[in-house]
Amino acid sequence: MTVEGATIEQLEQFLGAGKEVNCARPLDGEVRLTASEVGTVRVHRIYHGSVVDGPGLRSVLQVQGCPIRCVGCYVPETHPSQGGTMMSSADVLAAVLDPNFERSGVTILGGEAMAQAEELQDIASVIVAAGHHLTLYTGYTVEYIRDRGTPGQSNLLRLADLVIDGPYVRKLGGDVGEWRGSRNQRILSHEDVHRILKGGNA
Ligand code: SF4
Repeated sequence: MTVEGATIEQLEQFLGAGKEVNCARPLDGEVRLTASEVGTVRVHRIYHGSVVDGPGLRSVLQVQGCPIRCVGCYVPETHPSQGGTMMSSADVLAAVLDPNFERSGVTILGGEAMAQAEELQDIASVIVAAGHHLTLYTGYTVEYIRDRGTPGQSNLLRLADLVIDGPYVRKLGGDVGEWRGSRNQRILSHEDVHRILKGGNA
């Protein structure tokens, strides 16, 4: 709703106090994380009901740790590889696929998913096998992973239905449409990713 000509105080008189929605992510969709003694995945947070991290309504696994360190990154708190909460794959899956929340799909973002690709492969496989659309964000290009990455990193890319790749470049940011942070980043289909990994072009 757009209202012109009224102060915040006047609006609160009529509508009551506003509620912060955290960049379109409902605050009550955030999961309280439980550390596991057999933890294998370092998680920054898990939340539901996102409409900005891929098509439709997303349940989101945001992993902890990013070695890329783009200038102007909007989630610097995800950079340290020692932060976050160590969780087992089973606990991550239970939280991400919680049947109490509606979703059109699941998104894995970071931090940097490729930094934990070996661990995330199993989680991504279960998500895809259960019939959920998987969107994956990475600050590396698919070509970089193809040429210099590990088999596990390529496998993780292959599992996704949609990949948004490339680092955040501040001078190319702003007014870039949905899902991306800067214009250099690409929105790649499952077929695009497979073609690039085989040596083709986007
Ligand atoms: S790759 Fe993503 S999380 Fe890592 S520094 Fe760049 S924008 Fe931030």
